[in-house]
Amino acid sequence: MTAAPEAKKRRRLTQRVQFRLVLAFLALIIALLALLNSYPVAASRDIVFSEKESSLLEQAGVLAASLAALDTLSGDGAAQVVQLLGLTGWERVMVTDAAGLVLYDTGTPSAEGRYALFAETARALGSERVFYSRFSGGAFRSSAAMPIARDGATIGSVYLSEVDSGQAEIILAFRDRLFAVSVVALAAAIALTLVFTLRLTRRITRLSEAVRTVREGNYAQRVAVEGGDELSELYADFNSMTETLQKTEEQRRRFVSDASHELKTPLASIRLLADSILGSEDIDPATAREFIQDISDETERLQRTTEKLLDLSRRDDGARGERKAVDLGRAAEATLRRLAPLAGKSGVDLRCDCAPGCLISAPEDDVYQIVFNLAENAVKYNVPGGSVDVSVRAEGGRVLLAVEDTGIGIPPEDLPNIFSRFYRVDKARSRERGGSGLGLSIVHDAVAALGGEIRVEPGEERGTRFTVSFPALDGKGAAK
Ligand code: ADP
Repeated sequence: MTAAPEAKKRRRLTQRVQFRLVLAFLALIIALLALLNSYPVAASRDIVFSEKESSLLEQAGVLAASLAALDTLSGDGAAQVVQLLGLTGWERVMVTDAAGLVLYDTGTPSAEGRYALFAETARALGSERVFYSRFSGGAFRSSAAMPIARDGATIGSVYLSEVDSGQAEIILAFRDRLFAVSVVALAAAIALTLVFTLRLTRRITRLSEAVRTVREGNYAQRVAVEGGDELSELYADFNSMTETLQKTEEQRRRFVSDASHELKTPLASIRLLADSILGSEDIDPATAREFIQDISDETERLQRTTEKLLDLSRRDDGARGERKAVDLGRAAEATLRRLAPLAGKSGVDLRCDCAPGCLISAPEDDVYQIVFNLAENAVKYNVPGGSVDVSVRAEGGRVLLAVEDTGIGIPPEDLPNIFSRFYRVDKARSRERGGSGLGLSIVHDAVAALGGEIRVEPGEERGTRFTVSFPALDGKGAAK
């Protein structure tokens, strides 16, 4: 019995796969968008900075060199040079002497005649080339200072500064656009993630509902397979698993019902016979004896059936006898000797053409069961004056056992079912000959467990031919 079905659990939001997937996707997308919004802006700012650095320092260098060429460094001289060089686009141009006194300044208010208080100027007078730039208030604010050197001595400094809002505007517009695109992309990503994860979790839920149904014992449950992804593959595997379960369950039910039926019939006869003896007071001893003989026959049949059932159930449980190197030809001859009385009684000629030295690895009892059941059937389902030919030979790494009879044969439509448990072509004939319908199932299972194959086909003229092929062993006992 299966346990009571567990009620479908209600999960907290944070325990749901969909929530976790959405969260993971969103974290990834937000991180990507943050990178997309910051990196290109920072990179373009850096490009502008370095472009500014080279252009400002170059201009300052040209100005410093030109001023150094003057006889005397003066405000007027500086004004002329600035004029001459066309340095008009700067926010401020300032020239100082070696002491930092401002000689020329385009700033408003002008600092001419006073000492320059800029850190850049102080450092330039200390013979350094200085450049600063920052991006703030929607503009690039850059400044450069440089010493004016003559004959190795610093005779003054130049200072240039610039405010560039043109390039800054481009970068800011670029940043705003990136941001707008990111907002749209984020919204689209959220929508897509929700749709995608919802679809995915729905498919998972569908499968887990189907699993639950199967667990409750409904093996007919299937899930519709669509698409070709891993989940569809899982669905297909699930379907084939339930199909196997369904088949096994059907076989089990049929087996239980057949087995009960097989046991019920002889028991009913025994009961009837016993009641007949007990019910008639003046039964003559000969009739009583006849009835008791029938009871004995039915009991024997019951015993045979239960033994075979036990054998099959042991095989189903995977029990295997100990394997040995068995000479199949000799084993077949020994088994056939035990069948000789039955063959004699039935007027059937039992012949054996068994080559010696055909070794297989198998439990002795299994070999006996295989040969005995096949040969016994060949005798049982034969006709008086008929024959049974058993042969054993080696062929291409295999050992072949063939049992051919000239008996009543098996109709072609029955051949595919012949190895099923309790299957009989002619129930009455089988019963009359003490059959249980289990012999060929035992043969089939034993052959399969030995890695062999069994085939059945009509005999050459009439009757039936069974061929079993086993993996051969060489003389030393190793598989060929
Ligand atoms: P049973 O105990 O009834 O013989 P088996 O499993 O050995 O059971 O065989 C199943 C059925 O196959 C038999 O009932 C019989 O109808 C058929 N059968 C088996 N072997 C032969 C044979 N050599 N010739 C004709 N019919 C056969």
